[in-house]
Amino acid sequence: MTTLGENLELVRKRIAAACAAAGRDPRQVTLLAVSKTVDAQTLAQAVAAGQSAFGENYIQEALNKMALLKQLPIQWHCIGPIQSNKTRPVAEHFAWVHSVDRLKIAQRLSEQRPAQLEPLQVCIQVNVDAGASKGGVLPDEALALAREVARLPRLKLRGLMTIPEPAPDFDSACAVHRQTLALFNALRRDGLDLDTLSMGMSGDLEAAIHCGSTLVRVGSAIFGARQ
Ligand SMILES: *Cc1c(COP(=O)(O)O)cnc(C)c1O
Repeated sequence: MTTLGENLELVRKRIAAACAAAGRDPRQVTLLAVSKTVDAQTLAQAVAAGQSAFGENYIQEALNKMALLKQLPIQWHCIGPIQSNKTRPVAEHFAWVHSVDRLKIAQRLSEQRPAQLEPLQVCIQVNVDAGASKGGVLPDEALALAREVARLPRLKLRGLMTIPEPAPDFDSACAVHRQTLALFNALRRDGLDLDTLSMGMSGDLEAAIHCGSTLVRVGSAIFGARQ
């Protein structure tokens, strides 16, 4: 069995190799450790191994860990669905939200972001392959939503996030990731100041980096298979 530190090192090497293969600077790709279902003690071990950005899907679970780990230098990212009655703790406790897919949620997050904190950094989640079972705005609707979100005073729109269906191989993963990259570029051509493409997970981070990802969200390759 490999240790957490070894897993993290392997993932960093995969990212570096994917960047080298794509002719990209590895500093352009952020590793977000996805720590849903991972206990606070294990998360603290990942911090000790040099990881600082963590992604959580379930808000209450994340708040519990934040309370236990508040002395550690962790940047918390919300990557799960947000109901409108849960926006306040998200606005108050996270640095980033990747899963904005409705204007109403974005408006509430902006209104509820405490004045003394930096603006909340947000990505719009795009349902790029139109999987019926998941969140995200359809690609056709992304530009209109992005323009509205970019105007909200306490949010900083950073880019797009996607969770495509698992792909059988590199080429089919790329085919979907390229669509997200094209959408990202179209939004930038429209004048939106975006720098973050949150795509790629344990199984497809190489393909995502090949297609321009700037942030990979990696859970099981770091922490092991979830129960
Ligand atoms: C669980 C999850 C991940 C990480 O998935 P792995 O396959 O374990 O790397 C990434 N992004 C989101 C939104 C997730 O829910």
